[in-house]
Amino acid sequence: MTAGVFRLVLTGSRNVDADTLWAPSTEDVPEFLMADADLVPRTVDELLDGTARLVAQAGFRGLLLAHGACPRGVDALGDRWARRRKAAGWPVDVDRFPADWADGKAAGFARNRTLVKPGAHLCYALIAECAKRGCTKARPHGSHGATDCARVAEGADIPVQRFEVYTPVLAAPVPLTLPEHSKETNHA
Ligand SMILES: [Zn+2]
Repeated sequence: MTAGVFRLVLTGSRNVDADTLWAPSTEDVPEFLMADADLVPRTVDELLDGTARLVAQAGFRGLLLAHGACPRGVDALGDRWARRRKAAGWPVDVDRFPADWADGKAAGFARNRTLVKPGAHLCYALIAECAKRGCTKARPHGSHGATDCARVAEGADIPVQRFEVYTPVLAAPVPLTLPEHSKETNHA
């Protein structure tokens, strides 16, 4: 790992888009991340913007975003973010670890091991519900590739911050409607 550069491993589900909001799904959120607590929940762009800011404030000279180069979902969003920020002069770079699918279905899992091998200061795992057709595993459970990557990172002693898709409970309170007869009783 290059000294002074913050290596962030990003893993996440494919079936999400740029508007998906993420909220931390664990309680032990790193303090430096919560310095920006009013930004939670965030999109991928907001999360990475906030992280890059905090990493710079913490004295690192750059942020290296390492991801699995999936053409859809979190990897693609992270990659786009890094390219845009780098073009805008931010000290951001990207390290891509595409899976070699010619090796078969397990290529993604092998890639996850390569991705975490150089180590990292932090891993973000943005895991949505599994959308795999024909999956027979008991529900609910997160998408398999990102879940594996987070586990491998934890096994390599990389701090893992998990996020889940943010689902607002209720936007507004639902007015309580009493049945007609009880209203009459109340007004009697
Ligand atoms: Zn599944």
